[in-house]
Amino acid sequence: MSKLKVAEMFYSIQGEGRYMGVPSVFLRTFGCNFTCSSFGMPRGQASAERDSVAAKIELYKNYEDLPLVSTGCDSYASWDPRFKDLSPLLETDAIVEYIMNILPYGEWRREHLVITGGEPLLGWQRAYPDLLKHEDMAALQEITFETNGTQKLSAEFKDYLAQWGMTEPGREITFSVSAKLPGSGERWEEAIQPDIVCEYEQVGTAYLKFVVATDEDIVDAKNAINEYRAAGFTGEVYLMPVGGVESVYALNNRRVAEEAMRHGLRYSDRLQVPLFKNAWGT
Ligand code: SF4
Repeated sequence: MSKLKVAEMFYSIQGEGRYMGVPSVFLRTFGCNFTCSSFGMPRGQASAERDSVAAKIELYKNYEDLPLVSTGCDSYASWDPRFKDLSPLLETDAIVEYIMNILPYGEWRREHLVITGGEPLLGWQRAYPDLLKHEDMAALQEITFETNGTQKLSAEFKDYLAQWGMTEPGREITFSVSAKLPGSGERWEEAIQPDIVCEYEQVGTAYLKFVVATDEDIVDAKNAINEYRAAGFTGEVYLMPVGGVESVYALNNRRVAEEAMRHGLRYSDRLQVPLFKNAWGT
């Protein structure tokens, strides 16, 4: 049986993108190929907030105890190795049992599964078939992978997903691709990978979701969109305000919505911020 290193599992409302407002089970895997240390910082500067949290790691016994950060990656503990002991390695059977316990009716009805991270399409791709073929997962209809769009699907996993999508009418696979712009601190050549995202469109619906704050970010988003379109990407594009804490989010959301309208793009909120203060487990 396969195992996954699991940062968090919880039941909530999807706050972002295509499934905004849909009741969803979140499975957050551990590990990421990026660090995105510059969100919310002046260009070229890196946040030190997670270092201050890591310096007091002995205070935190589980994710719910961890403080929120206003700069850098807001899910830092799901990939920074200093927090790895908070994330157990679980067999897929144990994960399914946990999911069944948090679903409101103890079975899948109209809820949606979000596999997120960290970056959920790292090596964990090999474990997802074991998870999805479990008999208690048979009624699941909709899955979203929340990815940074840099990880190629393995041939085996791509075949598996194509098969999964065809087994029952109404099944939907979505790739919510939060491609990282330079404002995140990541390098363009590593973060903007149009060919990989175009391949996701071969097995499901893919959309791009750019986190933006400044005019410079919006220019970067438009340049990135041009690269994706030139490679053949056909999906929707969302702009989403930066802001893992309410004070930062509230500075940005209206302006980002207006920019989205101005450029004919979709706007994604981050409903988990006003609703739940973006607390871990929401
Ligand atoms: S890609 Fe996502 S999870 Fe990874 S560091 Fe960046 S924001 Fe965090």
